[in-house]
Amino acid sequence: MPQAYLTIDDSPTRDTDKLVDFLVEQEIPAVLYCIGGAYEELGLQCEGMEVMPDPIVRAIERGFIIGNHTYTHQRANDLTLEQEIEEIEKTEAQIEKLYKRAGKTRPHKLFRFPHIDRGAAANVLDFSKLSAADEPVLKELFWSGLCVDIQPQTEALLEKKNKLQAYLKREGFTADIFKGVTFPWYTDTEMAEAVDNLYTFSTADWMLNPDFKPHSKDWTYQSLDALKGKIDSDPWLHRDDSKNIVLMHDHNKLFDTFKALVLHMKSKGVEFISI
Ligand SMILES: [Zn+2]
Repeated sequence: MPQAYLTIDDSPTRDTDKLVDFLVEQEIPAVLYCIGGAYEELGLQCEGMEVMPDPIVRAIERGFIIGNHTYTHQRANDLTLEQEIEEIEKTEAQIEKLYKRAGKTRPHKLFRFPHIDRGAAANVLDFSKLSAADEPVLKELFWSGLCVDIQPQTEALLEKKNKLQAYLKREGFTADIFKGVTFPWYTDTEMAEAVDNLYTFSTADWMLNPDFKPHSKDWTYQSLDALKGKIDSDPWLHRDDSKNIVLMHDHNKLFDTFKALVLHMKSKGVEFISI
């Protein structure tokens, strides 16, 4: 049976309680990568933990793990190293506070970069170092359906990416909790050494966010059926020789899509496992 870790970005929202209730009912554990402060992006309003702490306290009480997803969800490449670190630290303070409020010990320090911009813009990995077999798999994984502005990797971008990795490592962040991922494009590339948390399958659920509608006409997936087809046709998700890390989103107005996709994966035999 294929097994997957469920990871969810961009909490909290007005639907977080509903989403957590659903996952508890389905006995699905998950990491929620949370935003510290309020931000607005492409018409999507997010309150962040500062304004909306209670759903996250309740999620912690119910056994969900909280990861850091920065304070205002900006691309690391658009910020200086110092600004990015400040974004991470302000969010850390929120997370620590909410674990304390929930009366629970924080089990792991987890971090995911917004937009998977790890400091080098769309150069998520050093694509020039990948084998001919791995390169198309990873470009598909990180660029699929995105209107990414692909700029060449420069020394400066690479240096910022490496400095951010070193910072995260020094601060005790880890990706080691996602055990049993054995795809060659994961174990034999820099994905294996990443201190931030990457993924092995993206549901692209966010493309159906109604708030993004004015921007979404060029995006690859336009309907729930198309997203179900993406799940069905993924060459890696259904294999049982490796675990997967599935990426989904908690956005206002996206819960119905989220729920339908989780149930669809379950109906195809995907088992969501503990972290
Ligand atoms: Zn995000």
